[in-house]
Amino acid sequence: MKRVHYIILGVILITIVVVFTIKQIAYSDSEIVDSVDNSSSIEEQIDEKQDRVEQVEIVDGSTYGNLMASAGIDPNVYMDLYNSAVDVYDLAKVRVGRVLNLTFDKDTDELKQLMYQIDLENELFVNLSSSVASPEGREGGITATTTETKWVAEIVPIEYDIEVVTEKGVVESSMYQAALDSGIDERAIVELANAFQWSLDFSMEVQTGDTFVFTYEKLYRDGQYVAPGKIIAGKFVNKGVPLYVFYFEEDDDNKGFFDQDGNSVQKMFLKAPVAYKYISSGFTTGRRYVAAFNVSTKHRAIDYAAAYGTPVRAVGNGSVTFSGWAGPYGNKVSIRHNGTYSTNYAHMSKTAVKKGQRVNQGDVIGYVGSTGFSTGPHVHYEMVKNGIKINPLKEVLPPGKSIKDENKDRFFKEINKYKEVLDK
Ligand SMILES: [Zn+2]
Repeated sequence: MKRVHYIILGVILITIVVVFTIKQIAYSDSEIVDSVDNSSSIEEQIDEKQDRVEQVEIVDGSTYGNLMASAGIDPNVYMDLYNSAVDVYDLAKVRVGRVLNLTFDKDTDELKQLMYQIDLENELFVNLSSSVASPEGREGGITATTTETKWVAEIVPIEYDIEVVTEKGVVESSMYQAALDSGIDERAIVELANAFQWSLDFSMEVQTGDTFVFTYEKLYRDGQYVAPGKIIAGKFVNKGVPLYVFYFEEDDDNKGFFDQDGNSVQKMFLKAPVAYKYISSGFTTGRRYVAAFNVSTKHRAIDYAAAYGTPVRAVGNGSVTFSGWAGPYGNKVSIRHNGTYSTNYAHMSKTAVKKGQRVNQGDVIGYVGSTGFSTGPHVHYEMVKNGIKINPLKEVLPPGKSIKDENKDRFFKEINKYKEVLDK
């Protein structure tokens, strides 16, 4: 009996395997048949022939010329294209990591379009446009026409689909880490830190238990998430005190971040000479600085520890009064902001500005180093008010323009819907 059972089971199994295999063969057959069917309509195929698109990756050390040559394009063609486009965009400035998208005509296989994404906002298109030239001469009554081609360049803004989202987190080691833990795009968190950069010194004031919530745009293209867009509103609760930022455009001259009362949060000076994204990764709240401002030890400056080579930025607009070697200070830059304030930045690996140069808030003026009397890479940052070194963290700094009274209704109407979401 048992043997019979095994035989029956065996027969069933073999049948299943055979049927399955036949089905597979039939399926692959039908695939082959299908594709034969398709290619049999050759005339239709020609009509549907597509332009060839080639993507040339811009790698380290490559130039516009050798990239185009690598795609098999004649130097006369790519130089003509370059010269026609240069007033709109200089293709010599193409950046590593981006791509040259080249489209070749389906009939002639000649290059007919170059597309290059310049940044998140814009794309460059250079198209070969042909026009029939007006007849120059007549030969025996026959009109001779020639087709003229030329490259036409234009920059086209990228249109994104925008999703508005609200995200939040609790600081344990840093806002950066908290945001990463919440799955927030780190580019969004850097933007949020930028919006708060006049109100909070992220390397010193932020502490465990602080919370943040913010509303911002997420940009999508063809259904794919690309990047964070604008920060619309944010709330950061620092040591129990809520700080707000709302993006608002009062007019062309006054747009940016304001608090809940319509006062600009953007100040004459940044809170720190090192951008958030360079002090954010891996730092622990309150333990990032080497030494703070201390009158008794005569260390009348703030030291910001940061990796060697980190950009150092001007905290405010002004003119460079010193740039170079300053003994114990190593490589130093001094900026005069107005008749009252100036700032000094010391121990840099190198300076990036010249004496007499005008700088704007946030401009890179040098790079973190450990030159002069210094034990490790950091920037020694001093603020001088009327000739006396003061603590920049304690100084109440002059703010930007507030919303005018006549625009307050519009402002409150706009921000209150976001404030409700942040306060939920
Ligand atoms: Zn110092």
